[in-house]
Amino acid sequence: MGWTDHLHERCMIGGLWVEADGGETIAVNDPSTGEVLGSVPKMGRAETARAIDAAQAAFGEWSAMTAAERCALMLKLHQALMDHQADLGELLCREMGKPLAEARGEIAYGAAFVRWFAEEGRRIYGDAIPSPWRDKRILATQAPVGVVGAITPWNFPNAMIARKLGAALGAGCAMVCKPASATPFSALAVAALVEEAGLPKGVFNVVTGSASAIAAEMCENPKLRKITFTGSTEIGKELASNATRHMKRVSMELGGNAPFIVFDDADLDAAVAGAMASKYRNSGQTCVCANRILVQSGVHDAFAAKLARAAEGLKVGRGYDEGVTQGPLIDAAALEKVEEHVADMLAKGGEIVTGGARVGNQGTFFQPTVVKNATTDMKPFREETFGPLAPLFRFETEEEAVAMANDTPYGLACYFYTRELGRAFRVMERLQFGMVGVNEGIISTEVAPFGGVKDSGMGTEGSKYGLDDYLVRKYALIGGLGF
Ligand code: NAP
Repeated sequence: MGWTDHLHERCMIGGLWVEADGGETIAVNDPSTGEVLGSVPKMGRAETARAIDAAQAAFGEWSAMTAAERCALMLKLHQALMDHQADLGELLCREMGKPLAEARGEIAYGAAFVRWFAEEGRRIYGDAIPSPWRDKRILATQAPVGVVGAITPWNFPNAMIARKLGAALGAGCAMVCKPASATPFSALAVAALVEEAGLPKGVFNVVTGSASAIAAEMCENPKLRKITFTGSTEIGKELASNATRHMKRVSMELGGNAPFIVFDDADLDAAVAGAMASKYRNSGQTCVCANRILVQSGVHDAFAAKLARAAEGLKVGRGYDEGVTQGPLIDAAALEKVEEHVADMLAKGGEIVTGGARVGNQGTFFQPTVVKNATTDMKPFREETFGPLAPLFRFETEEEAVAMANDTPYGLACYFYTRELGRAFRVMERLQFGMVGVNEGIISTEVAPFGGVKDSGMGTEGSKYGLDDYLVRKYALIGGLGF
């Protein structure tokens, strides 16, 4: 088999491959070349309603199984994902652009959530609460929330779905997923493997097409009980407000503006390695990417030089070409945003240490870039660049660094490097973010809670807490016991 065997051009509803009602399609491009890879149906409300019906029907069967039965099927799905890791990774690389090794790593990362929640699903406990009555008993149990709608972004076309799907299935829920229009094939490939693994038809449905129409149906259809979203803060706020108007549970994994702080006492080589991974992974297109790099004045120049040298070692190109370590940006608008941020910095006194320009005149490639003399009036201080630009801000004191780091409406991930234990705890406790990397630049794992505060959203993915978002609590008072 090869990656093209996993490329499906129809949607999956109730276990069937289907076209849009009107037969319309959306083209999907390879961002490295602009060439069309294929197309997917352009669906809207009617097809989404049918997918919700299919999920509702499957929910009955899936939720009635024992946790052990669900676990066994989910482990088969995990195995299917891993058996096809190489091909699924290449498909993801073709539609999204990230280097092949990163893409294959994403498949394993996504699959790990399926396995984790297969197992966690067996540990959904309730309580027997001491009763205030001699002749009555109180139980508090947990039940699956029901049919879940998932809307996902293009930057992790597999993992952003797998970590929602894993939790939903582990809790006993069924799902309708609307993947990003730029990267729908990875979602459809997962749907095919859900079938192959033998899960009930309709437990995982994928609809592609008009985001606003599909989201409207998800928000208003009473059979759908929860919406989980990963994407921009702007859309997340609108979606959360529409969903809660119809009393839907919501989980929102939104944008970030991660600070990455390097103190004078840091292990500089470790800090450079962490910054490289945090900044340039996925060409800077992750919600947890270092967006503002704050460096204490004592090590500023040395750090800038080392980071620039490391950035120059990256090989920019098509993700599926040998040795490439940085792929293209997702589209022309993303490329223009990076250029706009670089231009804004230069206009306000920024100085290029390395990079700063497009690579070639085909595709959407941008040099790994480091710009120093960054100030708080520059765009990267306020907005996610979502590209390979590392802006270096100089600071003098710990107080100043923490204040700068917290000066953002976002609160997803943050990072800092220090070798002083007291400072490690002080700074960790003062940073107002959902996730903190202390002397670490990559922090995601299925066993730890992933989620943000403030404008970065609400809810948790992964870890033992990740099931909570897919469960509802149920209280039963049991009387008539005859004693
Ligand atoms: P986006 O524009 O918000 O799109 C995300 C998803 O929302 C896509 O499926 C998109 O569909 C859909 N969408 C668009 N308009 C919608 C509407 N009116 N109602 C409902 N859904 C709608 O975000 P993106 O550019 O793809 O992703 C990048 C953002 O995601 C960044 O801000 C990043 O920080 C964030 N992110 C957060 C996390 C996290 O865990 N916190 C993880 C990854 C990414 P179409 O593709 O069809 O437009």
